[in-house]
Formats: sequence, C-alpha cells, structure tokens
Amino acid sequence: MGKAGGDSRALINEQGLRIDGRKLDELRPIKIEVGILKNADGSAYIEFGKNKIMAAVYGPKEVHPKHSALPDKSVLRCRYHMSPFSTEERKNPAPSRREIEISKVMREALEPALMLQDYPRTAIDVFVEVLQSDGGSRCAGISAAAVALADAGVNMRDLVAACAAGKVAEQVVLDVDDTEDKEGQADLPIAIMPNVNQVTLLQLDGQLTDEEFGKAFNWAIEGARKVYQLQRQALIGRYFAPEGNENS
Ligand code: ADP
Repeated sequence: MGKAGGDSRALINEQGLRIDGRKLDELRPIKIEVGILKNADGSAYIEFGKNKIMAAVYGPKEVHPKHSALPDKSVLRCRYHMSPFSTEERKNPAPSRREIEISKVMREALEPALMLQDYPRTAIDVFVEVLQSDGGSRCAGISAAAVALADAGVNMRDLVAACAAGKVAEQVVLDVDDTEDKEGQADLPIAIMPNVNQVTLLQLDGQLTDEEFGKAFNWAIEGARKVYQLQRQALIGRYFAPEGNENS
C-alpha cells in the first residue's frame, strides 16, 4: 500500500490517543486458538484487532510433483490468501502480486525456525487464509502459521512471532491498523524468533528517519514478544490443560 503521508484527518488526538482509542505503544486485542481444523495436521486461528485469520498446516508429507522434492530437507510451501469477503469491497479471489509477495516473505520468516532437515524428500504446506483484514495481516498470519506448525508437531528450534510498528501523524506507533496504514506515513512489519533472538522478517513501507526507525524497530520487537507470550499460552492451554478441560 502506498503511503498518503500527512493526511489532514486527526489520526492522533490531543490526548495522544489513536482513532480506535489506543495509546501510541498499545497493541490491539489478540486472541489465539490452536487445533481447530480436524482435517489439517496442525491449525491455528488468530484475531488481531479486527483481523480474523486461519492457518492450516499439512505435512510433512509426500511431495507432488516428485521432482520438486529435496534429498536433504523438507520443502516449505506457503500460501497467503485474502478471502473475497475479507475486505469492505469484494476482493478478487485470484492471487494478487501482493499475496504472492506475502506468501514469499512468510515462507522466509518461518523457515529459519523449522528443522526441515529432519524430513528429507517431503513437503510442508502452510495455508494462511484471511477471513477479515484490518492491516497487519501478514504479521498476524505469520504468528498464526507458527502456532499451526507447532500444532502439527513439526520440529522447531523456536516459534516465530510478528508485529508491525509504523509512523502516523509524525509519531511512531505500535501495531498499525488498516486506516493508519492507508493514511499514515510508514509501516514496519517484523518477525522474530524470540528465544533464538533473531529477526526473520523486516519490511518497510514508507519513510522513517534513523531515530524513528530505531524506536519503531524496538517497539515492534516488544510487540512481537507480547504476541509470543500469547502463542505460548495458547499452545500450553491446548497441550497441557488440566484433564477434563480439553475441548476436542
Ligand atoms: P498487511 O495486512 O500485512 O498490513 P498491507 O500493508 O499490504 O499488508 O495491507 C494493509 C491492509 O490493506 C490489509 O490488511 C487490508 O486490510 C487492506 N488491503 C490489502 N489488499 C486489499 C484489497 N485488495 N482490497 C481491500 N483492502 C485491501
């Protein structure tokens, strides 16, 4: 999305609050559920503000076509898709350039966390389906996909948690929503492996000074660490809930 840059609408009011009432460094409410699709090997559902996203994992499994298999590791394939009813105006269901780009960066963000060498000659398919979008869907999708991969039992060296920061009305803000993305000045989505302490995705749409970049980067990392705590709790709730509390 191109940045309009300095729109006249008050994206931040005199009290320093944003259009949806959040403080500058406040995340939207987040909810994560694990293991809700019976047919998938692993699945997760995330609500990130108004974003509603399903992630499904199939594999490790046999590769078709066979020649795309690798002798020494599994092939990770990711598909990010926005459903036609996920936006205010019906979205064309055909994959757009944006969806192809997000599918690629999503694969690159997840791959470092996976022990793909444990599964030679197989493939792991990750499907991220956006049911309702509201800005920051690539980050929410990556976070859901990482949980779905863990739910599928794929060997991982860490989870991957993602969050964006940005610049709106000349101020750095955490977790940019759709209005802020469209009318704001910059969007900086990042993904991290929180325990390995590595960044696996970093994109920047718009412009930031060095100082703004440093602040937005640190805020996005802090945001991703909060997302990680929720991913962890969701997985613990699913696999280590006291007996009788299981919901499937
Ligand atoms: P992200 O969702 O990761 O922030 P973008 O910055 O590219 O990705 O998009 C920001 C937001 O713009 C999306 O979350 C979505 O709400 C909206 N958007 C993207 N593509 C479309 C589209 N084809 N039609 C309507 N809204 C869209």
